[in-house]
Amino acid sequence: MTEPGITLRQFFDRAREGRLTGVRCRKCGELAIPPKELCPACHERAWEPVPLAGEGTIASYTVIRVAPRAYAADAPYAVAAVRLTEGVSLLGRVVDIPLERLAIGLPVRFRPIIRDDQTAIGFGPA
Ligand SMILES: [Zn+2]
Repeated sequence: MTEPGITLRQFFDRAREGRLTGVRCRKCGELAIPPKELCPACHERAWEPVPLAGEGTIASYTVIRVAPRAYAADAPYAVAAVRLTEGVSLLGRVVDIPLERLAIGLPVRFRPIIRDDQTAIGFGPA
């Protein structure tokens, strides 16, 4: 039996409300975030939404100094790949952490970003 987990739109809507949601494959247990069409492990479409704690550590990051037009006023800012405690990684904007304090392994916590565009994932101090 196949069933949609949550759509990308629902994922971002929930994130803006402060709820970070992943999807878990009911067939093989694979966890994914953001939601994907098919399970990358078993190619089934049997997702169910699961709430995530939003805690993790910085796995890698980059400082954006020349930004796309929509974000030019924010530069410089950092984008980080964060390894969540549940074992999945998620890309997000770093907020409220000075750029010079950024480091691999730094503990961070999910923070919703409210904007008109789809940007919703932020990470701030743990
Ligand atoms: Zn699977």
